Amino acid sequence: MPATDPGGATGIGGERGVPGKAFSPLDVELAARLESLTQQQLRRALREIASPPGTVCAMGGRTLLNFGSNDYLGLASHPRLKQAADDAAGQYGAGSAASRLISGSLSPHHRLEEALAEFKQAERALMFSSGYAAALGTIPALLGRDDFVVIDKLSHACLVDAARLSGATLRVFRHNDLDHLEKILRQCRTAEPGGAKTCRHILVVTESVFSMDGDFAPLARLVELKERHGAWLMVDEAHATGLFGAQRSGRIEQESVRGRVEVQMGTLGKALGAAGGFITGSATLIDYLVNRARSFVFSTAPSPAVAAAALAGMEVVRSEEGEMRLERLRENVRAFRALAGQEESEASPIVPVPVGDEAAAMALAERLFAQGIYAPAIRYPTVGRGRARLRLTFSAEHTPKQVRQLAESLSEQQVKVK
Ligand SMILES: *Cc1c(COP(=O)(O)O)cnc(C)c1O
Repeated sequence: MPATDPGGATGIGGERGVPGKAFSPLDVELAARLESLTQQQLRRALREIASPPGTVCAMGGRTLLNFGSNDYLGLASHPRLKQAADDAAGQYGAGSAASRLISGSLSPHHRLEEALAEFKQAERALMFSSGYAAALGTIPALLGRDDFVVIDKLSHACLVDAARLSGATLRVFRHNDLDHLEKILRQCRTAEPGGAKTCRHILVVTESVFSMDGDFAPLARLVELKERHGAWLMVDEAHATGLFGAQRSGRIEQESVRGRVEVQMGTLGKALGAAGGFITGSATLIDYLVNRARSFVFSTAPSPAVAAAALAGMEVVRSEEGEMRLERLRENVRAFRALAGQEESEASPIVPVPVGDEAAAMALAERLFAQGIYAPAIRYPTVGRGRARLRLTFSAEHTPKQVRQLAESLSEQQVKVK
């Protein structure tokens, strides 16, 4: 019998332990789709890492320099976070046993949310199991079929998915192009069926630091614009929380627009070193999300250990040590940019190396891999087709020598950094 015989008597599962062999009709179909991804240079696979998060990682039996992590401040392996997770597991258990609204709302979740609200200078905060879940719960809770959601072209997939799920009319504005956004906002207003009398809601959605390009949204002008048009604003600070502003709470603080952004989102799994996501805003907003955000209501609460680790991560960020770590991270980014011949400007720890072609990006990543450097190639659908790149991310824990090694390897590969 051929390995892909759809009518084969072996049925679902096929020969156990034989990867790539497809027997059931579903597997036959999926194998064809996977093959198509391979043809387009878009096939992905997991790489097992046999070491804790850090600047070196054990991958495929080798030790590599890691420039592909979002653990910007090096907190994921920090003793204080690990201890906090241990203590919480000891005191509250490994699992949370239920959704927050049933019996899973444990003290660590509440302590974390209180601290997050204070950190972000918001009335309240709500933890979700991930940033993805935060977006997916929040946007559909706020908007329905009669409303508009207007989103930056380069927004993260979770924001796009959430916008689609809401059923609102989705409009996309060109990346950071506020003239285009304004034009769309005007169109939304004139599209109201009853003219100015019926007020359909408009939510503008963007990121403060863009995840794949590392550039910034013009938050102050964005706030001014949405206020002029009576729209609401949601800003995802996934790559800003812990890294910008005098208190390191994010770009909203840095741009002095706290209190003027209705919905603030963040993750606990990047600079804060743990995992999970959150929304901060008014007490009314959070109260409403507790009632209406489906990814919150219908999902088991995150483990108390992860909430406790995130709280400890935030405490480190806010301490003098957090300030020092951030300074070391900035120094690493500055040093790399200087070595790569880039203009000095206020930079995020995300440095894209544009390649374009998917296969070329993969090949470059493989060549660096061979030199002991892990720098992930990012392809469609994470970025647009033909916009493949390496995405370099820096950590406070990288040593100057490691940063030099990266710059030297890239220059050996004759790579120009954007
Ligand atoms: C990582 C990321 C998310 C998702 O957060 P998770 O906690 O990883 O689910 C959301 N938005 C942006 C911009 C991100 O980079």
